[in-house]
Amino acid sequence: MPELPDVEGFRRALAAVLPGRHVRAVHVSDAGVLRNSTPAGLGRALAGCRFATPRRHGKWLLLPTDGPTLLVHSGMTGRPYYTADGTQPARFDRLVVELDRGELHYADQRKLRGVWLAHDDRAVAAVIGRQGPDALDLDLRGFVELLRGRRGAVKATLMDQAVLAGLGNLLTDEICWQACVHPGTRIADLDEQTVRRLHATMRRVLRTSVRYGCVPGLRGWLTSVRDEPEAHCPRCGSALARGRSGGRATRWCPRCQPPP
Ligand SMILES: [Zn+2]
Repeated sequence: MPELPDVEGFRRALAAVLPGRHVRAVHVSDAGVLRNSTPAGLGRALAGCRFATPRRHGKWLLLPTDGPTLLVHSGMTGRPYYTADGTQPARFDRLVVELDRGELHYADQRKLRGVWLAHDDRAVAAVIGRQGPDALDLDLRGFVELLRGRRGAVKATLMDQAVLAGLGNLLTDEICWQACVHPGTRIADLDEQTVRRLHATMRRVLRTSVRYGCVPGLRGWLTSVRDEPEAHCPRCGSALARGRSGGRATRWCPRCQPPP
C-alpha cells in the first residue's frame, strides 16, 4: 500500500519527465477512478495545458499544470507513471493522458481513491482536506509541537493525516518497533527522550525508504518479517505480537516494546 516513500518515488519519476509536456488528449478506460469529474470534463479541462513540476504532500501527489491541477491519491493500489510512446501499459490501467511526448498513466486495481481535478488552490485544499505537516521534512521542534497536548495513542496519532501527513500502517509499525515504543502508548506518557528517539527513527526510516521508493523491508527491519505467520523479532528473537492499534492490523515485539 503506497505510503509517503512510494508517492515520493512516483513524484520523482514524474518530475524527471512531466514538466513542460503539453496535454494532447485524455483517454479514460475506467471512469471509476475519476472522483470529481467525468471523462469528457477532464479532457476539456486538461486539453492544451502544460504540466509544471509535480509536488507531494503526505500521500497526495499534486500534478499542477498552467491550468488546473490533477490530484492523485493512490489508496491501496494506485500508481501514476509515465511511458514513452508505444510502451505496453500496466495491468489495471484506468487513465491515459496523451502528451506531446509520451503518456501519463494511472493504474489502480482496487480503485479505492483515484484522481481529482482542482481549478485553483482553494479547490486543491478542499480536495486534500486538513493535512498536518509532511513527515519527511519535519524537524524535531515541529514534531514536539505537533504532539503537544495530544490525547491519543502513538500509532493512531502518527497515522492521522490531519496531524502528520504521509505515514501509513507499515511505516508506523516500523518506526514504533525501531524506536522500541509500544504502538498503544499514550502520547501524554512519552518522556522527552522517547519523543526525541521517535523523531530520529522516523527520519531515518523515511529517508531510507524514500531511497528505495517503498518501505524496503531490509534485513533487520520489522517489515522484513511482519507478514510471516510465526514472525520473530529481528532484534531479540521473541515471537511478535499481533493485534489492532489505530484501527489497523499491528505487529510489535512484546519484549522490545513493552506495553505502557
Ligand atoms: Zn524484540
